[in-house]
Amino acid sequence: MRIDLHTHSRASDGTDSPADLVRAAAGAGLDVLGITDHDTSDGWDEAARAAGDVGIELVRGMEISTRYKGRSVHLLAYLPDPTYPPLVAALDEVLDGRNARVPAILAKLNGLLGLDLEEAEVHRLAGDPAATGRPHIADLLISKGAVADRTEAFERYLKPGRPAYVERNAADLGEMIGIVAAAGGVTVIAHPWGRTDPAGMQQEDLAGLQELGLAGIEIDHQDHSPQARAALRAIAVDLDLVRTGSSDHHGLGKVDHDLGCNTTEPEQYERLVELAAAAAEASGRPAPGVLRP
Ligand code: AMP
Ligand code: ZN
Ligand code: FE
Ligand code: FE
Repeated sequence: MRIDLHTHSRASDGTDSPADLVRAAAGAGLDVLGITDHDTSDGWDEAARAAGDVGIELVRGMEISTRYKGRSVHLLAYLPDPTYPPLVAALDEVLDGRNARVPAILAKLNGLLGLDLEEAEVHRLAGDPAATGRPHIADLLISKGAVADRTEAFERYLKPGRPAYVERNAADLGEMIGIVAAAGGVTVIAHPWGRTDPAGMQQEDLAGLQELGLAGIEIDHQDHSPQARAALRAIAVDLDLVRTGSSDHHGLGKVDHDLGCNTTEPEQYERLVELAAAAAEASGRPAPGVLRP
């Protein structure tokens, strides 16, 4: 069983349509795929149809932008009812912040580079996704010949500390863990020691979040060194958190994140699915459940 629980489509900043992502996952020999676009369930229906066609198991999820102790944390939310009103309201707020940031970043870039980048071009080039992000602005810079790839755009302009960086709002992490649980889903912290926060979350933080309902942490991720993976694994074992591994695939948008480059152990996946079933039952919400071929 090969299980990859964290990937992106064109519903956010991946470069494959949801259907192409599912077909690519089947082609890469995966048995289970999690689709986890940023802050939206927009790709779910298209992905579900494609999963039925190619016979792959699909876990519908999302990667929610949150904040914890003033730092940015990505929260993977699996199998929540996407129509649960408090979840919809919280995601709408994050999406509004994403959209509001685009013109602010473009104004900075135009001042810096003497360009005339317009918001409408970003949306058009990205295919009008629910969640716009800096990678889409990077794509516009590539199309203008200003940078060679997304990485260069982030390094020169878009990441924190660079001249076109603009902050945006995010949901409170603890609150969001509760909202996802109330929507019948389960939560996993994505890349807890990833590039934006290499040693942020410590064992006592994770223990506190577990009390709020956190189910697991993503350990095998390309942002984590072998040492970081070993240390995170020890913490997860100690706290009895679910341990996942995933590609964080973005199509052509992120190098070295091929589908299945990291995977989740079947026993850990089974635990996650059981916790989701229990959360769905307790919530009384019509949570989607795993889609089996
Ligand atoms: P945003 O959603 O606007 O906060 O942008 C964050 C997204 O940009 C995340 O999905 C990252 O995967 C992606 N990202 C961050 N740094 C890079 C990079 N150097 N190259 C490609 N994508 C990146
Ligand atoms: Zn992304
Ligand atoms: Fe992330
Ligand atoms: Fe991601």
